[in-house]
Amino acid sequence: MTEKKVFNACQHDCPDNCAMVSTIVDDRVVSVRGRKEHSFTRGVLCGKVKNYDQRVYSEDRILHPMRRIGEKGFGKFERISWEEALSAIHDNFQRVIECNGPESILPYSYLGHQGLLNGMHCGDSFFNRLGASIGERTFCNATASKAFRLVAGPSGGVDPESFAQAEVIIMWGINMLSTSMHHSRFVIEAINAGATFVVIDPVRTRTARRAHVHLQPKPGTDVVLAMAIANFLINENLVDMDYVNKYTLGFDKFSERARQFSMEFASEITGVSGQEIRDLAVLMSKKKALAIRTGVALERTANGGDAVRAIAALPALTGSWRVPGGGIFQHPQGTFPINRDALANPDFVEDGRNSVNLFDLASALNSDAHHPIKSLFVYNANPVIAAANQAKLLENLCREDLFMIVSEIFQTDTCDYADILLPATSQMEQKDLMYSWGHYNIQYNHKAIEPLGEAVSNTELFRRLAKVFSFDDDVFTRNDDEIMVESMIWDHKHMENISLRSLRKEGFARLNVGDAQTRMPHRLGEFPTPSGRFEFASSQNETGGGILNVYRQGVQDEKKYQAIDALPSYKSNVIPDDGFVLISPKHHYFLNSGYTNFNLDSEISTKQMVMINTTDAEARGIKQGEKLRLWNDLSEICVFADVTDDVISGVLVVSHGYWRRHVKGNTVNALIRSAPSAIGQGITVNDTVVFIKKDERKALSHSHFG
Ligand code: SF4
Repeated sequence: MTEKKVFNACQHDCPDNCAMVSTIVDDRVVSVRGRKEHSFTRGVLCGKVKNYDQRVYSEDRILHPMRRIGEKGFGKFERISWEEALSAIHDNFQRVIECNGPESILPYSYLGHQGLLNGMHCGDSFFNRLGASIGERTFCNATASKAFRLVAGPSGGVDPESFAQAEVIIMWGINMLSTSMHHSRFVIEAINAGATFVVIDPVRTRTARRAHVHLQPKPGTDVVLAMAIANFLINENLVDMDYVNKYTLGFDKFSERARQFSMEFASEITGVSGQEIRDLAVLMSKKKALAIRTGVALERTANGGDAVRAIAALPALTGSWRVPGGGIFQHPQGTFPINRDALANPDFVEDGRNSVNLFDLASALNSDAHHPIKSLFVYNANPVIAAANQAKLLENLCREDLFMIVSEIFQTDTCDYADILLPATSQMEQKDLMYSWGHYNIQYNHKAIEPLGEAVSNTELFRRLAKVFSFDDDVFTRNDDEIMVESMIWDHKHMENISLRSLRKEGFARLNVGDAQTRMPHRLGEFPTPSGRFEFASSQNETGGGILNVYRQGVQDEKKYQAIDALPSYKSNVIPDDGFVLISPKHHYFLNSGYTNFNLDSEISTKQMVMINTTDAEARGIKQGEKLRLWNDLSEICVFADVTDDVISGVLVVSHGYWRRHVKGNTVNALIRSAPSAIGQGITVNDTVVFIKKDERKALSHSHFG
């Protein structure tokens, strides 16, 4: 018997990016634990991942290439060899290129894997070289990151670990205990030292229950709340004018705009009382160490980018950046020196290449689309559950002239529509370098075991594809170690004393960005904006609509999007009298649409629940657990009532991530349209309007899941 310990890092789309150590006995994973030495994750893994070995050895793994043998959508496949699979893909792509041009091929992927090697960019070089349409992956953070850059530049902001030094902490639009649980340690440290903990969220989440103060604005109105706070601070002379004068730009214009957001107006629009808003503003101004973290929920409305800009303005007004633990954390933008050009190779792309916003895959697959898509290659993604307008998408995925390849670990709902299924490895079967979007540590994920069956890593998948297409550029023959070397800018100041060799040995390293206890990144301004100042009025508003390269296969957009207002503004969402706003946050037990298939013993994955306010339920005679239907002009879904005061009146909550095969029908994205936001072209799912009725029918008839 041989036993060894291997350092890993969680690959999932989760900001915590936990440091792990796996125990391997005779090339088999027998346990996975957290690493206590890691300063952020401190030895604890979440409930989803702590039994990771069960995921690796699940009977449901896809372990061999397969070819569809039944109707599209029915999920029947037969085993084939890798040679046959690659040959089928090659023949189809060649035919499509000859008949329709390469832009009729569309890659579809996102952050199903977060590694620098096997994650978002793993297929970019191949598809950029092939001439395929560019997939715009604006599912998450595209709006918030763009908005934050417009005012603060690509700043990593206040260190999440510095929250322990804060005197006031605001979690704005983030359910930390479900989606970034390790950050709570730092928040608790601050609370124990006397800090006030504030949560702003329309839902009384697990996190909100722990807060000293909980404000529940209506979805999409956060910009109004933030601008009203700003207006109050300005009117009451609670602004740190020394900081504003020295280190910011556009204060006068911003002040003038803020005047439009009176307390009365804000109270009416947000549903939060004027007194609560005033109290929060005073609290923020009285304590210098104000730390704000914005969550991904915030950006998911038409007003999301403006909300981020307005919220980011608050610590600049209060001068909170002057002290450790003061400022705002949105995302560690610009902190990890990733060499994205080496990963994505955008130079392969000629000007004017067609691009498709992947959230709107349903429309992109219309036969009469501008560039009709004939081949779709899905990896690191589950569009049937994650993209807009599910009903239309399913209809288009059934197109007989559409050839679809899916690389996956488990047979998801998306796989059921594939022509070719390819087996993907888990993180234990591949090596990778991992960055984080929730802290400042870089990590090395060692390959712990050999791949199961015929599964291959994404890097190997695209090496094999490049070979069958005879792409002889150096970039396609790099092994994983060579990709690692090229993936980072190792001589960047943040990488001082960090090398690939040291990462291999230690497993992780904190970037050289200063000590969390004393770090003050913008004490003297030094914002990475064109002016070097915090820009209350964005000087780059002309390009505000464009998408950051990272969400576009590394390729600059063509400035095809419109300029935006230099200052935050508010647009109201039209909600009919009998309508509700539907929000669809992450589920506590799922990881987007991952791990849904590991909760089948209970009703967690099989019963799609809707949170509805008690008053709204009583007005409609709706009882706890009752079967309901939510509907709008796109489609309808079956849900079960969770009658509660945890959600405000007029708002419904259905988590995303349920699978159609488990709930035997549509999931929440069937009700969601694809309208992109003006800033960064992100998704606006939390603007969804639906209606509710009791379900008098038995069950959704759905032939595919009979
Ligand atoms: S999903 Fe997140 S919290 Fe869970 S182990 Fe992975 S990184 Fe940690």
